[in-house]
Amino acid sequence: MFVYKLTVLTYDKKAKGNKLMINEKMRMLGAKRSVIRETFEYGKRRKAEIGEDKVFDFSLGNPSVPAPVCVNENLKKLLTDVSPVVLHGYTSAQGDAAVRSAIADYIKKTQGESVNADCLYMTVGAAAALTCSLTALASEGEEVIVLAPYFPEYKVFIERTGAICREVMCHTDTFQPDIDAIAAAINEKTAAIIINSPNNPTGAVMTEESVIALTDLLKKKEAELSKVIYLISDEPYRELVYGGAKVPYLTKYYNDTLVCYSYSKSLSLPGERIGYVLVSPRMTDFVSVYQAVAGAGRALGFVCAPSMLQRLIPTCLGKTAEVEIYDRNRRILSEKLTEYGYTVVKPDGAFYLFVKALEDDANAFCMRARDFELLLVASDDFGCKGFVRISYCVTTEQVENSLPAFKALAEAYGK
Ligand code: PLP
Repeated sequence: MFVYKLTVLTYDKKAKGNKLMINEKMRMLGAKRSVIRETFEYGKRRKAEIGEDKVFDFSLGNPSVPAPVCVNENLKKLLTDVSPVVLHGYTSAQGDAAVRSAIADYIKKTQGESVNADCLYMTVGAAAALTCSLTALASEGEEVIVLAPYFPEYKVFIERTGAICREVMCHTDTFQPDIDAIAAAINEKTAAIIINSPNNPTGAVMTEESVIALTDLLKKKEAELSKVIYLISDEPYRELVYGGAKVPYLTKYYNDTLVCYSYSKSLSLPGERIGYVLVSPRMTDFVSVYQAVAGAGRALGFVCAPSMLQRLIPTCLGKTAEVEIYDRNRRILSEKLTEYGYTVVKPDGAFYLFVKALEDDANAFCMRARDFELLLVASDDFGCKGFVRISYCVTTEQVENSLPAFKALAEAYGK
């Protein structure tokens, strides 16, 4: 049987005779690499052995398309035009007021939603937007529903609050939410549900029909249970959609919505760490929820989102990295892999292709793929078995060069 070797750092419990006083859960999180990271590290070693261009690494969701020109141009402008004391200084904890106003105006213009600066809380990317929202909304003993397959960090962020991560599988032919299964999972302990569209790892975009069915269910359950159930919409891939797919704006469908947004993918800025939480102004007890998000940001020690990046955002609203490159990669891979005999879930967004493994054990399939220098990620870590994720935010050259390897892998399974 093939198993991933997870790197676990050892430590001496009795170093110098003193008892180590650390949080074991945190130590384990730091010591254990995710399968995605492990695959990426393997890829680096393998590239050093046989050459960069011989290894086809599809493991990480790190955009390969450069940030649009407005990013560097306006960063340079900020460096020359804005006083360094202001540019590099603290902003208000919730973010600079002018920056939040500009983003609110943009949301108003593009989504027709009547939001203002006071609905926005600037964060260190979507990850911080999620940890702030979950810390604000979920407590020990409560449950947060996630729709499998899901971004694995959700479980880490949820469990840190003391709440339980409750997985509900989507329909595996379309990766749209299974409304009956969600209905069965909601109970008096349910604090929130996280949705993610366009989705990592499937690339699925939630249809308006699914959004209506889900939000109707949540309204019904709120009334039945006489409690608020928050909808956390994690949207770092909102702008990465293809073939005219539409991503419904959740605040229009459900009052108790928080949007966790980030510029990591749309502007190809994942290392710069900038995003926000939008608390819907129609939220039940909006003021308290916004205060709780700000309180969570304070308790987690964020202080404020990076000042220079905050000030960059108003200059780049509406701009994206070259999404056409991802679309081209998506089309080539979907078409060719289907031709070679793989079952591909057609993605409408993000930059991931979810493909059925050619044997039951997706981990074993990924190990076999390594024999062909293809680095794929098994779906088990996303809370779903039997698939692999192919991250196609790579160069089109890599996609094209990898095709013979995908073909040979399929042939090895008799396709
Ligand atoms: N949510 C999803 C679904 C993601 O895929 C990612 C990053 O890959 C994040 C959140 C975190 O994004 P950020 O880099 O903005 O923290």
